[in-house]
Amino acid sequence: MRVPQSRPHIDDDDIDGVIKVLRSGNLSLGPKQTEFEKAIAAYVGTKHAVAVSSGTTGLHLCLVAAGIGPGDEVITSPFSFVASANSILYCGATPVFVDIEEDTLNMDPALVEAAITPRTKAILAVHIFGHACDIDAINAIAKKHNLIVIEDACEALGATIAGRKVGTHGNMAVFAFYPNKQMTTGEGGAIVTDDEKIHLLLQSLKNQGRSDDGNWLTHSRLGYNYRLTDIQCSLGITQLAKLDTMLKMRKDAADRYTSALRDTIGIRTPSTRPHCAISWFVYVIRCKPTIDRNRLLRHLMDHGIGAKPYLPSIHKQPYMQDLLKPVPRLPISEKASSQTISLPLFADISAKEQSFVVQTLLEGIDVQRR
Ligand SMILES: *Cc1c(COP(=O)(O)O)cnc(C)c1O
Repeated sequence: MRVPQSRPHIDDDDIDGVIKVLRSGNLSLGPKQTEFEKAIAAYVGTKHAVAVSSGTTGLHLCLVAAGIGPGDEVITSPFSFVASANSILYCGATPVFVDIEEDTLNMDPALVEAAITPRTKAILAVHIFGHACDIDAINAIAKKHNLIVIEDACEALGATIAGRKVGTHGNMAVFAFYPNKQMTTGEGGAIVTDDEKIHLLLQSLKNQGRSDDGNWLTHSRLGYNYRLTDIQCSLGITQLAKLDTMLKMRKDAADRYTSALRDTIGIRTPSTRPHCAISWFVYVIRCKPTIDRNRLLRHLMDHGIGAKPYLPSIHKQPYMQDLLKPVPRLPISEKASSQTISLPLFADISAKEQSFVVQTLLEGIDVQRR
């Protein structure tokens, strides 16, 4: 048996919708874009949404809209996908990495204040693996120091804190729709905000800086082509319509892993912050020091299981060694990167596939304990 790390859930509604757009002749900047943006804003609970070509381009535009440029510093998490830090570098600004919490793997708010300098302009707060970071504490620090807060919610669509969805806590937030995310448009992303001015600016920036009066040949500012096609927006609409069902399927699968693995010696299952509902993006276990993580990972992969060492710390990536001088020491993030394994998780994973993953994992641990 082979079990991939992830697999998108695509049904006839998705396929029929895409075909209709193709037959309509309206392939970009059409009615599906507006419909998708309204649907995302309504789902998250913000006034506005802007569909963009990826989560990465969404993050870039948020920082541009926030006026981030050369000489500025943006505080962010080292335990994330590289896109969060890259978007800061695209603006010529400097990412300042703050270490993470041992249990949630999210940026530790207790360390944020010490990282603030006169150059700090914003905090890019990542909700890693679908688990909300302590955004209330981060917001309080930002308010005190007059900083902009951007939520990287690319892995956390549908996650809540005390019943309120992530994406509604910062000045802007970004979601992503690559095929391994909770819902997909192939490639794609969306920015949400309550700020009308920022909303108009983002709409212009993603569309070559076109003027707000809609004149196609007037460009008011330097912009980008970061648009999402109507073909993709249609997929977004039909995927979003079943998102809560897909999230429930992912949660049920995560719960099955937890009940099978909770008491296993040598590993730790994911922990949850109180009042937070996880939007299950990946299921990440943590090896204790008695277990050789890389050997266990190899055992899983040798048996056809798409397990991944999520995530390497960004500041340890080869290209960062030249960019960050000096390279910071972030021991909690570095340790997590050496101990974590992401097990296959997707809406349609079967109980049989999960049993195979669990059985293979237990074998791999057993081999090391003999
Ligand atoms: C997926 C992801 C992004 C954006 O990725 P794209 O592939 O550009 O859509 C950004 N940040 C995090 C944490 C992500 O997981």
